[in-house]
Amino acid sequence: MNDSRPDLRPETRAVHVPQPAIEGSRPISVPIYQTSGFVFDDPAVMADAMSRPDGAFVYGRYTNPTVRSLELAVAGLEGGTAAIATGSGMGAINTVLLGLLSPGDHLVAQRSLYGGTAAMINELVGRFGIEVTYVPENDPAALRAAVRPRTRLVYLETISNPMTLVADLPAMCAAARELGLLSVVDNTFATPMLCRPLEHGADIVVHSTTKYLSGHTDVVGGLAVFADPGLHEKVWHFAIELGASADPFAAWLTLRGLQTLALRMERHCSNAHYLATRLAAHPAVTAVHWPGLASHPSHELAGKLLSGCGGVLAFDLAGGRPAGERFMSAVRLALLAPSLGGVETLVLHPATTSHRALSADELRRSGIGEGTVRIAVGIEHPEDLWADVSQALS
Ligand SMILES: *Cc1c(COP(=O)(O)O)cnc(C)c1O
Repeated sequence: MNDSRPDLRPETRAVHVPQPAIEGSRPISVPIYQTSGFVFDDPAVMADAMSRPDGAFVYGRYTNPTVRSLELAVAGLEGGTAAIATGSGMGAINTVLLGLLSPGDHLVAQRSLYGGTAAMINELVGRFGIEVTYVPENDPAALRAAVRPRTRLVYLETISNPMTLVADLPAMCAAARELGLLSVVDNTFATPMLCRPLEHGADIVVHSTTKYLSGHTDVVGGLAVFADPGLHEKVWHFAIELGASADPFAAWLTLRGLQTLALRMERHCSNAHYLATRLAAHPAVTAVHWPGLASHPSHELAGKLLSGCGGVLAFDLAGGRPAGERFMSAVRLALLAPSLGGVETLVLHPATTSHRALSADELRRSGIGEGTVRIAVGIEHPEDLWADVSQALS
């Protein structure tokens, strides 16, 4: 304990509470450092801490020991050198895009993007004078053809939502490198258990830790992992100004989820495989979109790139939009909810919910049918899941 100060008055002693100095042992699990700032004995150490990402802890918006623990853990899993944890996945994506792009710059992005990312890029184009070209996620020739003098980066997603297209990371990242561009990959759907984009040539990996990394549908968070410490430092300076920093309690929940990520991913993948196979054989279903199936356009690439095909699948109902809506109200165990990556199975009808802003034409172009249903498969018993899905289909 720090000395208690009997010479001070109660008002002062209530403010300056004693803290245990832990010696001789340490906590097994990472504690929540619920403090907004840190105390220094030496002003020079404080000045140094404020000017670089790996100095002493200084202020919660910069980082925090609980948050740092999460940053180091995910950077390690992804094979990166450093990370920046943020308050949401969009916080991580914005930190990276705004930290690296300036007005007049151009980026190349894959066509099938997470909705929030697509909306954000529209914002950059509409209000910040940044330009974008969309290319297929597996077409390095289209990427080469899209490049302009002010092209700065390529933006990809390992597995896309909801049609589960797999990006050709080795080919796309190699082309980007050749052209002197940075490649940024959203690895939310795959997680480092199924794919590590930095090993395939990416420079930055972004995550919505809201999904599989935390895994229990109880926290919103994000994270960006960097291969190069110099690039991390550059984005870090912007990140502390942007202020999208992670909260220590959210980081703690995410760390707790992360410890079971490998086990959960195995079950998410095997459950998705089981449901995809059963759905593909069902007469009410015209197509199943999951890269583990031989019928999927990314099947061969998935075999080379992923050590599991993920827990999200989509399927098309023969009955179109009304059948999709009927299915949504007929499930009993699966929950009708947005998001994914938690232990519970969630279902969504994109045409009437997440993608309702798209016209029938735009829907078709993104490969989403009026009767397409997305399932974010949880870790329940596969037979219980199939019993629920098959009763909802009839
Ligand atoms: C959910 C999600 C995001 C956004 O993350 P939030 O934590 O909701 O801000 C970005 N990319 C993908 C692929 C996602 O699934």
